[in-house]
Amino acid sequence: MGQVDMMKKVPVSEQPAAERAHNFQEVCLGYTREEAMDEATRCLNCKNPRCVSGCPVSIDIPSFIMQVKEGNVQEAYDIISLSSSLPAVCGRVCPQETQCEGVCVRGIKGEPVSIGKLERFVADTAREMGIVPKGADEKKNKKVAVIGAGPAGLTCAGDLAKKGYAVTIFEALHKPGGVLMYGIPEFRLPKEAVVEKEIENVKALGVEIITDFVVGRTATIDSLMEDEGFDAVFIGSGAGLPKFMGIPGEQALGVFSANEYLTRSNLMGAFKEDSRTPIMVGKKTVVVGGGNVAMDAARTALRLGSEVTIVYRRSEEELPARVEEVHHAKEEGIIFNLLTNPVEITTNEEGWVNGIDCIRMELGEPDASGRRRPVEIPDSRFHIECDTVIMSLGTSPNPLIHTTTDHLDADKHGCIIATEDVGLTSREGVYAGGDAVTGAATVILAMGAGKAAAAGIDAYLSK
Ligand SMILES: Cc1cc2nc3c(=O)[nH]c(=O)nc-3n(C[C@H](O)[C@H](O)[C@H](O)COP(=O)(O)OP(=O)(O)OC[C@H]3O[C@@H](n4cnc5c(N)ncnc54)[C@H](O)[C@@H]3O)c2cc1C
Ligand code: SF4
Repeated sequence: MGQVDMMKKVPVSEQPAAERAHNFQEVCLGYTREEAMDEATRCLNCKNPRCVSGCPVSIDIPSFIMQVKEGNVQEAYDIISLSSSLPAVCGRVCPQETQCEGVCVRGIKGEPVSIGKLERFVADTAREMGIVPKGADEKKNKKVAVIGAGPAGLTCAGDLAKKGYAVTIFEALHKPGGVLMYGIPEFRLPKEAVVEKEIENVKALGVEIITDFVVGRTATIDSLMEDEGFDAVFIGSGAGLPKFMGIPGEQALGVFSANEYLTRSNLMGAFKEDSRTPIMVGKKTVVVGGGNVAMDAARTALRLGSEVTIVYRRSEEELPARVEEVHHAKEEGIIFNLLTNPVEITTNEEGWVNGIDCIRMELGEPDASGRRRPVEIPDSRFHIECDTVIMSLGTSPNPLIHTTTDHLDADKHGCIIATEDVGLTSREGVYAGGDAVTGAATVILAMGAGKAAAAGIDAYLSK
């Protein structure tokens, strides 16, 4: 065991910025066994573990860390599996800095325990050792349909299968995983090595996944329940409908939504040299937005060979993306044009993007969100030359499901209305959770909603 500085996290190895800016391999390389055991010694095994209340799925964090400290990966994995079906994913993409690590007692005087990296170590090592989660001992004679194979659907399905239900997931795309597969890039979340393996674990519990099946088109919820005999339904269809600004030029050639750009790269493999579905690679790309999705789109365009500028209307402090992602993007050479708002996308005679006109902003009084409102600086219009624009302004749920299901209520943003505790919708036996209910949020919140709904469905079907 090495000498551990109790005030600081054991550092984790990363691919050097200059190298990784040109490839799609994972940025963070994760802890070795020795590093993980060292980091685990920093946990105080608190009597009142604040980290657990900071975790949306209440993983018994100190207990799994104590097992890592002893080098017991199987035991650590079993503890995490009680609460999470996708630990290798969460260890990589959860915003730990605002959740478990944000409230860790170690963080009061020094750096918090590196809980996310320890979770990732356990999940990756368990996978290498061939450890899989335990299935149900007894089967129940009831069928549940799950719509969407994202983190909400996979978690709900996994939990119900563990309780013995026959679960079928209906997924619109040709591959399961939702945003984990089509949105978050390979260099943050490897698909074959991590996402597909965690999905295999869910299937190993007995869950059937049917792809290329669009609920609302291939079949409706009513027909699944009335004709196919499903006793309950969980809707985990996400929020995949991109928003736009409505400025002139947004329909020009060379303008993408971040969703389309990332889907083409991740799901359709456009980043691979031999891809049969390549994507246009601009010389200069402007990404509009400041969230995780904007960072992912920018870093993808950079790796494809473009110079990339992020345009965001507020200041660095208000950037909604994770601090780690902003830090990585800067290290890799992404240019940040902050306090800047686009007003028009300009084009050449053939209709292709040749630039974007913006105005400078300054921060005024706080708005309803508590953040200072960006206000235009008069006469500050200027031009940025570019040939590609990626709009990353957020997404909302697709209306298809609620408009094709009788008496299923949704709000004015298209989010399905469901109870907070178990996700029950306005229809008996129909539950919903994740981005389809909240609008675009996080992986762990979607998983938490899937878990709560599984408990609700179990209670309903056990009546
Ligand atoms: C680029 C990007 C980066 C992100 N980065 C992070 C991050 O770092 N950390 C984090 O915590 N969160 C991140 N998020 C957010 C996070 O991925 C989502 O909050 C989460 O995936 C929501 O899970 P979900 O299961 O509700 O929906 P989704 O993951 O969207 O899955 C929904 C699934 O339902 C399917 N579906 C939709 N309609 C139908 C239908 N009619 N019939 C059948 N199937 C249907 C879709 O094809 C999809 O597979 C990111 C999101 C994006 C887009
Ligand atoms: S709060 Fe931090 S130190 Fe305390 S048990 Fe949780 S991880 Fe360990």
